[in-house]
Amino acid sequence: EAKETNQLCVHYFEALSTRANELANMTSKIKHAIKNQEFELYLQPIFDARADEVHGAEALIRWPQSDGSFISPDVFIGIAEQSGLILNISKWVLLETIKHLAQLKAAGFIGSIHVNLSTKDLESPEFYDFVEELVTNDPSLSDFIIFEITECAMMTNLEAARSMMQKLNSRGFEFSVDDFGTGFSSLVLLRELPVSQIKIDQSFIKDMLTQIADYAIVESTLFLATRLNCKVVAEGIEDKDLKQTLTSMNCDYLQGYYFSKPVNVNEFIHKYANEEKY
Ligand code: C2E
Ligand code: CA
Ligand code: CA
Ligand code: CA
Repeated sequence: EAKETNQLCVHYFEALSTRANELANMTSKIKHAIKNQEFELYLQPIFDARADEVHGAEALIRWPQSDGSFISPDVFIGIAEQSGLILNISKWVLLETIKHLAQLKAAGFIGSIHVNLSTKDLESPEFYDFVEELVTNDPSLSDFIIFEITECAMMTNLEAARSMMQKLNSRGFEFSVDDFGTGFSSLVLLRELPVSQIKIDQSFIKDMLTQIADYAIVESTLFLATRLNCKVVAEGIEDKDLKQTLTSMNCDYLQGYYFSKPVNVNEFIHKYANEEKY
């Protein structure tokens, strides 16, 4: 029996070290990718539901591979968070967004760009200094950039999140609660943190036309948001029925494949920032 246990332990440690190796490999690949500018910024339009026109966009990072495929941010962002590299990624996304903002504005785009932040960013004085320097150089920046932070990231270290968000808020930045409703403390956040926008998670939107519970959650979130003076974005709009239903429910903004998948900046400018389109 001791031998069997021993055998099990060997397997366990082998699995652990394989996992650790994979993590280490991925971490060094990410480092390399940052250094070599391998990432690309994609934008997905966010539509104004009532006006039926582009209102803004979410910046989503892409990591193209030599074979034409992409490594999903769901895979590498988590690893970047664990290894501390997320800070460099967030800075890159922010700088890249700012770089393209000038281009977007020149083409006639007047919306704001949503930039995703992680827990680590919220806990980092270095990140704050970085943003503060950017907004000192260009005070209009806070009118054109909205930070999206997931419920989980806010709750991981509520005090750090509050302090960072208040400081950035006093410099004019607004915040959107990403994946709203998927955490365990959605309501506390709305009371404790300076948020001006809620993004209802796609998991509630997807089946809301057939699942009465999902519909009720979306309806209540919209009601609550109105009372709290928060704007609402519904994510994951994949068809016309969802678009029409949410518009009739007075949801402010809509985002999803029905309107457009995330596209690279040139394509975004061509499709959505071109003055001739208006
Ligand atoms: P998220 O912030 O919740 O972003 C929304 C995700 O839903 C994006 O996936 C987007 O492409 C996808 N999406 C948009 N519309 C639809 C739709 O109609 N149907 C479906 N099924 N999906 C839709 P993506 O780009 O793969 O990003 C996945 C996650 O990775 C993001 O979720 C975010 O958590 C993270 N991420 C992406 N870019 C960044 C970044 O620049 N910084 C950070 N910190 N995280 C990022
Ligand atoms: Ca987001
Ligand atoms: Ca989301
Ligand atoms: Ca998500």
